[in-house]
Amino acid sequence: MEAPRFKLVLVGDGGTGKTTFVKRHLTGEFEKKYVATLGADVHPLSFQTNCGPIIFDVWDTAGQEKFGGLRDGYYIHGKCAIIMFDVTARVTYKNVPNWHRDLVRVCENIPMVLCGNKVDMKDRKVKAKQITFHRKKMLQYYDISAKSNFNFEKPFLWLARRLSGQPNLEFVAAPALRPAEVEIDHAAMQRAEEEMRMAQQAELPDDDDDDL
Ligand code: GDP
Ligand code: MG
Repeated sequence: MEAPRFKLVLVGDGGTGKTTFVKRHLTGEFEKKYVATLGADVHPLSFQTNCGPIIFDVWDTAGQEKFGGLRDGYYIHGKCAIIMFDVTARVTYKNVPNWHRDLVRVCENIPMVLCGNKVDMKDRKVKAKQITFHRKKMLQYYDISAKSNFNFEKPFLWLARRLSGQPNLEFVAAPALRPAEVEIDHAAMQRAEEEMRMAQQAELPDDDDDDL
């Protein structure tokens, strides 16, 4: 039987690290295909799970997001999504609602993960308690660092569980990843995780959008 495949739409402002992130997965990078009509690279990222293999066809832009929205074809047939922002650049978090709106306009009710990238950097600007968008829209959130592979698998695991309907799904082998380019401070990451956990228990501010 062929492994189930799901189109994963990767969006977020230019410079947030989308391409860096998707290229970590070595076989996906090796097997990627260019969709010329849309100017997109499709990386087939495979994961081994206790329920069998699963493949995410991760769509990455060739940089068009820097000049506005993306074409509908980029979103069409999307089965899941990752919205990325850069924790060192507030404006990229401010733009998350726009990416979310563009996604749901075409894809409606698909599982989505919000990822705050570059948490390896010392000058983090978007702090845990400011990250509230996902709670209002029922998305999952993860801190990640593409350059250090920190939490690389987390968004895929969450999406795999949602798409398979198997909440106990686990990855049984680590995919081959490009080696880390920066060291991550694990104690600092643990503190950040705790801060996030506390922030999630606080009440949501009732103003509708502007959280920063
Ligand atoms: P894209 O435009 O969203 O595809 O972003 P890119 O992947 O091209 O990355 C933009 C810049 O951010 C590049 O200079 C990357 O090296 C850098 N970058 C990406 N991810 C990380 C990360 O996790 N940590 C740090 N420190 N820099 C990153
Ligand atoms: Mg890119």
